[in-house]
This record gives sequence, C-alpha cells and structure tokens, in this order.
Amino acid sequence: MNNKLTVLMYHYVRPIVGSQHPSIRGLELADFEGQIDYIDRHYNVVSVSDVVEATNGGCPLPTNPLLLSFDDGYSDHYRYVLPVLKRRKKKGVFFPPACAVSERKMLDVNKIHFLLANSSDHESLVSQIERAIDSARSEFDLFSLKEYREQLWKTSRYDTAEDIYIKRMLQHALPERLRSCIADELFRRYVTEDESGFADELYMSEENLAEMLAQGMEIGSHGYAHYWLSSLSPVDQAKDIDRSLDMLERIGVSRQGFYFSYPYGDYTHETLGVLNDKNCAVAFTTKVALARLDSSNLFELPRLDTNDLPKSGLAPQAFWTQDALV
Ligand SMILES: [Zn+2]
Repeated sequence: MNNKLTVLMYHYVRPIVGSQHPSIRGLELADFEGQIDYIDRHYNVVSVSDVVEATNGGCPLPTNPLLLSFDDGYSDHYRYVLPVLKRRKKKGVFFPPACAVSERKMLDVNKIHFLLANSSDHESLVSQIERAIDSARSEFDLFSLKEYREQLWKTSRYDTAEDIYIKRMLQHALPERLRSCIADELFRRYVTEDESGFADELYMSEENLAEMLAQGMEIGSHGYAHYWLSSLSPVDQAKDIDRSLDMLERIGVSRQGFYFSYPYGDYTHETLGVLNDKNCAVAFTTKVALARLDSSNLFELPRLDTNDLPKSGLAPQAFWTQDALV
C-alpha cells in the first residue's frame, strides 16, 4: 500500500444547461454521475472518519482510497448530491459556511459568482468597481488603481485575469465595508433585488444538514463568514472558527475531532495552531495534489478539483489516477 489518498473537491453540482443560470461555473449533474462511474471503476470511496481511524493506527484504508468533499453549503448538495450518493452507497463530507446556513445571507463569494454569470460584459464590471473605488477615496485608505491592477490582474487555473481581478477586489483586497457595498450594489443590479430569497434558495438549512448527517453524510466546518483567514488576526480567526462550531453543534456534530476546510484554501501558520487548540482532527486545503497519509500534515491535506478527473466511466485513466497507483 502506498498511503496515497485522493481527495476530490466539489462546489456547485446541479442541472446547469437550460437552468436559470446557465453560465454558472459548476458541475453538470449528469457529469457528476459520470464521475462517480469513473470513481467506481478506479477507486474505493472512504469517509473522513475512515481516514482519521486509519491514521490513528486503526483499520487501514482500502487500496486507492478516494474522499468526496463538497464546499460552500449549497442546496445543490441536499437536492442533487445526497440522492446520488445514497443510491450509489457512498459517503461524502460537506463543508457549509455557517453564516450562509444560519443567517440566510449571501456570501460575497457567491454574490460575485452570480454577478459574473449574469453579466456578459466583465470589462464594464471592472470599470464600475474602479469608479466606485475612486469615489470612495475620501472615506477609505486605498491604493491607486494601478497598484491594485499590478497585484491582482493575474490569470488562474480556471479564470481570466479580468475575472480574478473582480473576484479578489471584492473578496478581500478592498476594505470589508466598501467591498460589501460594491458587491451588494452590483448584485442588485445584475442578479436580483431579493437577496434573502436568493440565499434561501442557494444554501442548505440547518434542518437539511441535520438530515444529511442522519443519512450517514459527514459535516465539517468551512468557517463562519467565509473569510480569507490570512486577512484576520489569529484571535479573529479563532472567533470565526468558534462561531462555525456552534452551528455544527446545533445540528449534532461534536466539536471534538471536527473536520475543517479552509475558505479559498487560505490560511496562515497561526491557523494551524488555532485548529490544533480547538481539537480539529483533519483540515483540507485547495492545493492541487494527492495527499500522502504518511507524510502530509493532517491539517494541510491537498485536494483535486472535480475537473482534474474524468466525468465518464468509459474515460481512459487520468494522470492523477495513474499517479495514485504508483
Ligand atoms: Zn468556500
């Protein structure tokens, strides 16, 4: 046995073609089923508790183990993923941000997703954001537009530089009050005036989560307000994590040995200490790699994105599948 563990990360999983938001970046439900076919052919699906037990010297994991993880608490997971996993006799671990679940408020990250999906002219979004920055200069201490562009105008694995710039500006680069204000305004203009109705539709409720738990799924923390944790002091990181554990406790998940997924995959050295103090068992990053249970830190387990594995049982073995077997 080679001690490698594949952890797969999902966000939106829904019927997308022909839906109200056909441009949302997510996994088409039929492709999710196809990916489970592929996983069935090449892997053995395990749960986080299996992983924790194996690393504590208990029952070893089966060959080529794979863990299914779902971030952000979307009602997609209750509506579409849960029935598939139950039918296919698989477990998954779900990481909902507590604020979205309990307060029924849109997270900035999701406002931005739907804003980008509902607007075909992202150049115009950039100019609207930059105009708002310029007119807020007297009230906030801000960098020049040139400096923001130099820092944040960068392409990523899945995004154009323009989209990364919009996302980073509204996720963490601007002061929180200003970026929320701009995101709210654009969300109202491009998506809907009814934010709480939209949030109600978008996120699972505490009842949904309790039911998922009763159906054998695992639930972990994804923080309270879905912050970039490195933008918070260690004290504020601890507060945010603590508030998320209150929600987990309400739905029946113990604080002892909880599971954590870093919002945006972002954390600092101090975050690891906070998780350790609070008796976290295992935490997942967004670093793209296979986890090695003999040498990876259990608080820094990397994950593949759903797009890193094929979405059909008939597909040839992907690079990451071959790598898992070596
Ligand atoms: Zn997230």
